[in-house]
Amino acid sequence: MSRILHRSLRKDPLLAVSGRGLMVQGAEGPPVIDASGGAAVACIGHGDPRVVRAITEQAEKLAYAHTVFFTCEAAEELAELLVGHEPGGLSHAYFVSSGSEAMEAALKLARQYFLEIGQPQRSRFIARRQSYHGNTLGALGLGGNMARREPYEPLLATCFSHVSPCFAYHGQKQGESDADYVARLAAELDAEFQRLGPQTVAAFVAETIVGATAGCVTALPGYFPAMREVCDRHGALLILDEVMSGMGRSGTLHAWEQEGIAPDIQAIAKGLGGGYQPIGGILMQGKIVKALAEGSGAFKHGHTYQAHPVACAAALAVQRIIRADNLLENVRAMAARLEAALQERFGNHAHVGDIRGRGLFWALEFVEDRASRRSFDPDRKVNEVVKDAAMAAGVMIYPMGGTIDGKLGDHVIVAPAYTATAPEIDRIVERLGQAVDQVLR
Ligand code: PMP
Repeated sequence: MSRILHRSLRKDPLLAVSGRGLMVQGAEGPPVIDASGGAAVACIGHGDPRVVRAITEQAEKLAYAHTVFFTCEAAEELAELLVGHEPGGLSHAYFVSSGSEAMEAALKLARQYFLEIGQPQRSRFIARRQSYHGNTLGALGLGGNMARREPYEPLLATCFSHVSPCFAYHGQKQGESDADYVARLAAELDAEFQRLGPQTVAAFVAETIVGATAGCVTALPGYFPAMREVCDRHGALLILDEVMSGMGRSGTLHAWEQEGIAPDIQAIAKGLGGGYQPIGGILMQGKIVKALAEGSGAFKHGHTYQAHPVACAAALAVQRIIRADNLLENVRAMAARLEAALQERFGNHAHVGDIRGRGLFWALEFVEDRASRRSFDPDRKVNEVVKDAAMAAGVMIYPMGGTIDGKLGDHVIVAPAYTATAPEIDRIVERLGQAVDQVLR
């Protein structure tokens, strides 16, 4: 009997033993293709000896140093690599151990920024429905994933409110132009600022590409510039959560690079360390650091394991590999192949309502009825059943469901490593096709 409180208490998980490239070997059965990088994490594949070496060398040299006393070379070099050239004005980094911790830090940094510049009344955050920002109480309260919020609703803070996401498949009205839809969403955000009192809002928060909750939902062109304009007009910050969509997954290092805007604070995690170590972080604009430096002189936040030397060494190695091996170029090339293969295989499938994504970050949304876009009964847990069938067919895809306003939406995410080859992409789609056909004939 396992002594671990597993995700499911009905069925023990499989035992994973080893991984190389896109392949993961369990204790039993043939290896499976990791077509989702776990949850869009394993971005350079498994078992890269260069990362293993970096981890070992750092652990031998110095496994841990508390940031009250020291900084470390790995953290300094990682920050230099990420923000030394100040992409979009982002000039400083802060490293933590997960995506949730990154989002907590983003919220607190935004709050402290306004205290430092003499606007203490700014304490509210507007996020979007159908979003996920993490499972700690701050991040959970911020997010709009109803299924995950529900049991903990009484514990969640009241400084968070939600507006509609840009979600063409479910949110755009029939006959509504893209420009009109974006204008409607900008008006909704503006109305929420007005309802709360524009001077009380610290930030608007969004995933640049929605991840787990709705499945690889990209914004329409012009959406983020319109949201940025509303924030700027009201003096609020824009926080982008790129925990899942960032660090190259979309084909550019940051997903916002393709949106024509830059955030004030950006959260990163999964692809930062590629799963070799737990690490997340936030990147921030120079004006925020300046306000803290000229004000109280410290970010009033901290964790025992922040900027952990071994985690930073692993992330530094992963980030160097992405650059040295030109992996973003491969992401863009394989993105086109993956999109085409998914369209060909599932474009006419009676129960695949939408095929969406960008880069190596694609989702299939399953529907009972394509014409009305009606979802399956959530009790059928179609996403889970497809995941199990896919595992049996030898491919890992990431399942989510019942998360669009707590009732709609079954989808699976395909997010292979940036190293994926054309034959691997083809095999992923072929095996996923077998699984989908088996479950949804
Ligand atoms: N934000 C987003 C967009 C995520 O996808 C996730 C994880 N799925 C998180 C935050 C939380 O990250 P973690 O699970 O590492 O705490």
